[in-house]
Amino acid sequence: MPLPKGLPVVDHHCHLSPKGDGVRAAERFHAAGGTHLFLATQNYETSVPLSLDTYVRQFETTCELARKVHEEVGVRAYPVLAPYPIDIVGATAKLGAEAALELHRAALDLAGRWVRERKAVALGEVGRPHFPVNAEVATIVEAAFRHALDVAHDSDCPVVVHSSDLDPAGFLELSERAREAGLRPERVVKHYTRSPLPPGSTGGVTPSYLAHRDVVRDVARKPGPWFLETDYLDDPRRPGAVLDLATVPRRAGSIIAQDPEHGVDRLYVPFVESVERVYGWRPEIGPEGAAE
Ligand SMILES: [Zn+2]
Repeated sequence: MPLPKGLPVVDHHCHLSPKGDGVRAAERFHAAGGTHLFLATQNYETSVPLSLDTYVRQFETTCELARKVHEEVGVRAYPVLAPYPIDIVGATAKLGAEAALELHRAALDLAGRWVRERKAVALGEVGRPHFPVNAEVATIVEAAFRHALDVAHDSDCPVVVHSSDLDPAGFLELSERAREAGLRPERVVKHYTRSPLPPGSTGGVTPSYLAHRDVVRDVARKPGPWFLETDYLDDPRRPGAVLDLATVPRRAGSIIAQDPEHGVDRLYVPFVESVERVYGWRPEIGPEGAAE
């Protein structure tokens, strides 16, 4: 089903790598009808970052990819920057707990500065490893997460949270953490949410749903804010490990096909209204049909 012109079609969480498909993946997204991507940074090297300079280079790479995607493909890519929470595990082993926390805090400060300079739109991914860690690392993880929420508050931006799957109690705990830092819970996005949550059960935290067919069918009628994402991992060593970048526009097409009368209105929830509620602005399509 062709997507209507003028409808932003937004993947709320993906990764691109200069060593992977990069701009070509964005071309597939564009060809399927996609218009805007939230481009989360990642470690592009094979070893864990051990210096702030490494994070500077990492963030520069993400922003450079976002610029190329816009210039060469016409898809708008919004950088989302932060040191990956799991970096703490490797950095603690190499540098010790204290230095690892200091580096992580400095990298969060850097990401916050880039948000304030409008080079990025949110802090992410921040949060907790999705696997058990020892007590020492767990303590640092919590201190780093608290700092991330403080930086988001000071930078007036959303945070995109990485963690294990959360039940409603887990969402409420996140919501409490946000409030403690003075952040509206809506501005905390739980990325990689895999099962639909009843509206009103997340303490106001915004779920970003993995765009599996059954999940999309279930959440499509729910009030916002919520997002759709692929968490596309542009890793040539793991082809097919995650959803392809063309998935969100394809799902959008099937929502319209299944419900021609209300489908477009429903898609405004994740693609326009939720972005406005969480980020404070709307993704726009220009008069020529290009993402702005
Ligand atoms: Zn991710």
